[in-house]
Amino acid sequence: MARKVLVVGEVRDGVLRNVSFEAIAAAKTISEGGEVVVAILGENVQTLGEELIHYGADRVVAVENEKLATYTTDGYSQALLTVTQEENPEALVIGHTALGKDVSPKLAAKLDKGLISDVTALEVAGGNLVFTRPIYSGKAFEKKIMTDDFIFITIRPNNITPLEKDVNRTGDVTSLSVDVKDLRTVVKEVLRKATQGVDLSEAKVVIAGGRGVKSTEGFKPLQELADVLGGAVGASRGACDADYCDYSLQIGQTGKVVTPDLYIACGISGAIQHLAGMSNSKVIVAINKDPEANIFKVADYGIVGDLFEVVPLLTEELKKLKV
Ligand code: FAD
Repeated sequence: MARKVLVVGEVRDGVLRNVSFEAIAAAKTISEGGEVVVAILGENVQTLGEELIHYGADRVVAVENEKLATYTTDGYSQALLTVTQEENPEALVIGHTALGKDVSPKLAAKLDKGLISDVTALEVAGGNLVFTRPIYSGKAFEKKIMTDDFIFITIRPNNITPLEKDVNRTGDVTSLSVDVKDLRTVVKEVLRKATQGVDLSEAKVVIAGGRGVKSTEGFKPLQELADVLGGAVGASRGACDADYCDYSLQIGQTGKVVTPDLYIACGISGAIQHLAGMSNSKVIVAINKDPEANIFKVADYGIVGDLFEVVPLLTEELKKLKV
């Protein structure tokens, strides 16, 4: 059954986030040959429309309003409700990002529709669209179908492969002006933490440190390894609680969820709450002094040893490969 699917593209600092392209790929499967329309919200976002078309969108609606320049729950839910009512799609796809996690339950309630959140895979099986999502902090996966006619899902970033970019694809990019009123929150200023390098949530390689790293200084060899691999540094809550690094690096149940191609856990024991944020990584390497550490149970490759010896050696060898 061909469906019209509306995707919410995500823009940060004037740049489209990868999850937008992943959501288009998910929407293509859901559409079963129908139309995929992407809505992007913000101020002067229309110029980003062409890239979305190149990644598979059939049409793009740029929802412009100066009050949408920064995210607020009220502003985005009003704008998304308007665009959903205007487009009248049969399905809605949003990234399971901080933005998506915040706005989608509200939107689902306003639309009076069900929502399947945090989808990591989808397929057509036995004539049904089947959605896979993790449960029990990633210990198990459940498969769900939507019994309602309307499909509403959020997709976990880094799990669904975007379609190949095709610069010859063409499609309409139109602008829709929306009325945004009665905002209960107004963002006056955004102060960013001075972070260097690759964004942890979207990194293809993550080098994470735990309490075994022992100090802020101890993160330096991890940063060097991340630099060689073009990756980002993350951390366990143990390391954050010990004040070795900032909480923005925390991975796990109460931190960020990452699914990189390569995750290297250094001095991390592998508590269930940590695994909830990284066990879906494609390849997991664990470096730990304790051969009984739980992290080895989820690791594809394990190195029993002192991270302060192993990590610099890895960096050195990888540098040689790069020359
Ligand atoms: P530890 O458990 O102390 O492990 C340190 C490891 O380093 C050990 O395995 C040790 O063998 C190894 N080590 C020591 N020295 C070296 C060395 N020189 N070389 C190699 N290895 C070495 N945790 C998270 O990470 N993320 C979360 O989001 C999170 N949310 C939580 C939510 C709740 C409600 C609760 C109760 C807990 C949560 N936790 C979370 C905490 C979690 O339970 C663990 O306490 C935490 O993950 C432990 O961090 P760690 O592995 O760095 O430290």
